[in-house]
Amino acid sequence: MSGECVFCKIVAGEIPSAKVYEDDRFLVFKDINPAATVHWLAIPKKHIARLSEAKGEDRELLGDLLLTVGHVARERNLDAYRLIVNDGAGAGQTVFHLHAHILSGKELGERLL
Ligand code: 5GP
Ligand code: ZN
Repeated sequence: MSGECVFCKIVAGEIPSAKVYEDDRFLVFKDINPAATVHWLAIPKKHIARLSEAKGEDRELLGDLLLTVGHVARERNLDAYRLIVNDGAGAGQTVFHLHAHILSGKELGERLL
């Protein structure tokens, strides 16, 4: 837990969130300002500021984060979606707790990539 981190506060239950999935290591919740019909954020509960700060010791956590995204997508009948990780302010990262955006909906056809 990192003191002023908004996602650590969500993990701790200090800030409410609309949870989609939770287990002991991961949380998936709805983005407060959705950019698509479905816009969820998948995070490890461990505070890692950004992808490029992950270490070798985080290898299993990062792999399981992706497996969790796939599992939740299947569980929620999301058959097509896009996964985006912004790494650094120049790429648009505003919350410095590693997260993957899960985006789905017809809007995606008009967006980058
Ligand atoms: P970034 O730009 O860092 O990749 O994405 C951060 C995302 O977190 C944004 O899409 C923003 O809407 C979302 N966000 C920021 N604060 C909160 C919050 O308190 N609750 C939720 N659910 N989403 C948040
Ligand atoms: Zn954090």
